[in-house]
Amino acid sequence: MTAQELIKRLSELNAGRAPVLLHVREETPDERLTVLTTWHYFEIEHVMFWTDRKRVITIRGVNRMSPKSLQELGLKDEGTVVTGDTLADLPVFGTFTPPPQPGPFRFKLPTDLTTCYEVYDTPTKTPPQRVRLIFDQDHPLEILQSVGGKYNGQPFQTRLSNEERSRGKDKAIVASDWDYLLRALGIQTKPTRLVNGQKVPDNRGYIEATRPLAGREFGGDIRYSWKCDEKRNIRVATVDPQTNQRTGIQEVDSQRGCGNAFYGEDVPNNPDGTKPLEITCQCGALLRAFANLDNLRA
Ligand SMILES: [Zn+2]
Repeated sequence: MTAQELIKRLSELNAGRAPVLLHVREETPDERLTVLTTWHYFEIEHVMFWTDRKRVITIRGVNRMSPKSLQELGLKDEGTVVTGDTLADLPVFGTFTPPPQPGPFRFKLPTDLTTCYEVYDTPTKTPPQRVRLIFDQDHPLEILQSVGGKYNGQPFQTRLSNEERSRGKDKAIVASDWDYLLRALGIQTKPTRLVNGQKVPDNRGYIEATRPLAGREFGGDIRYSWKCDEKRNIRVATVDPQTNQRTGIQEVDSQRGCGNAFYGEDVPNNPDGTKPLEITCQCGALLRAFANLDNLRA
């Protein structure tokens, strides 16, 4: 079931109820892929989660009160009315927050690492589950150092799993992103279990090894990648034919991405030396940069 189908089904089920604001987030198991965030208005009362083997769709329902007039609100007045602060400097809400430009960073782990984990299925592996360490808006990494101090003090959201994969040119090393984090923080051994004589990741062990590391610091690089997702409709820029200026972005209903992936070295810098946040794929799709955390170190 796609997010669109799910939304349609949910709205049918909840027809006639009080309006609710839904936050629909769709993620693929490949953590490098873009997270698509869309706001939809529907009539649903519950928080719901939908999971299948391929993707996780989180739906968060927020009840909205039925609107009232100023008189009906019964506002409690305190103090005196004064001229407000300027609104000119407010950041634009609801738009894409660009990730930091690629480069070396130092990060600090959240001061509480008790509720930062998520389990997901890995049916072809032993055990058939892996866990993710999630640094989200409630528990982000804090940037302590960045080139020129540009991002110091800012949060950085990312996620690391303990799903092992082959690394390096000859694929001889098998390790997970989480392994690299543990090593950067001085942990000497991989949390493993013995299953039928074979060493496999110990999911519980990863969490237990990580919890005491709250507030610790480590180094790492942010690198961009751009992926043209074969499972999604592409997005293209709409252009004013007269001025040739971009007027917006449109999803193309029947055209999936071509599967191309681009990495930092593939993509030329902007004239100002920065990496572009958005590139156009050969197939015409607009691709947004995803900021990967890489080369974790002490
Ligand atoms: Zn493409």
